[in-house]
Amino acid sequence: MRFLQTIAVVTGAGSGIGRAAAIRLANEGAKVILVGRTRKKLEETAEEINRMNKIPMAEIFTADCTDVEDIAELAEYVKQHYGDLHVLVNNAGGSRHSKILEITEQEWDYVQEVNLKSVFLVSKALGKIMIEGAQREERSRAIVNVASLSGHQAGAEIPHYSAAKAGVINFTRSLALELAPYGIRVNSVSPGFVETPLTEQGLKNDRFVRAIQRNTALQRVGNPEEIASVIAFAASPEASYMTGADLLVDGGWLIK
Ligand code: NAP
Repeated sequence: MRFLQTIAVVTGAGSGIGRAAAIRLANEGAKVILVGRTRKKLEETAEEINRMNKIPMAEIFTADCTDVEDIAELAEYVKQHYGDLHVLVNNAGGSRHSKILEITEQEWDYVQEVNLKSVFLVSKALGKIMIEGAQREERSRAIVNVASLSGHQAGAEIPHYSAAKAGVINFTRSLALELAPYGIRVNSVSPGFVETPLTEQGLKNDRFVRAIQRNTALQRVGNPEEIASVIAFAASPEASYMTGADLLVDGGWLIK
């Protein structure tokens, strides 16, 4: 139980990696605020968490992480209801596949906003609460940003996504430097190919799956729980001397 007496926010908690991360944190004792745009998906995650625990460990807050007003309301909610925040998982994200000549300005902006600007907006608004908390009480506090294998390597037909995720990795380092004096650690986790709604379509293609298996040292696609466990580690006091790091969880894709 690494997260007793811990208040955590997980964005994009209605599905995939965010859902698995929220479940993992809650099952280890955290009170988790689930953030996303679709209430129904968040309710499903909350129901699962609250069913598994004797006391309600999950609450939902619907917000668009690219919307500065929504995020201001989220920060106000966290402040009013809890007065402090110990763990923030910036997981919300999304991708589009297009060749460079087909990417519209609108698509470029969407991919930057959902993957990179959202991390900035949420870290700024909720980071303020974490800094204020750190000034009152010395204890483990951490931000974990979900980046991607695509932030480390070139990605054909996802240049906007690769650029945004590389941005998340370097934003993480910069934020880690700035928040270190408050004892707030900031790290990123970069998943490889993981079976979630984001990759569902692609993984229906047998040739694509075989190519992933061929190019991954562990010869398989990952599952959300295998990323959630690394997010939980980075968020926990066990990672107390780790900040500004990127944890690559790609089944050994990059070493092949
Ligand atoms: P997913 O199941 O589609 O989860 C993404 C979540 O983010 C959804 O629940 C979505 O819910 C939420 N979201 C999207 N836009 C949002 C916004 N503007 N504001 C608030 N929430 C928003 O996909 P996933 O694979 O778990 O992705 C999670 C993270 O892992 C993403 O950052 C993704 O880039 C990263 N990642 C995934 C893989 C992979 O192979 N799956 C690999 C590398 C990195 P709503 O639409 O209801 O808001």
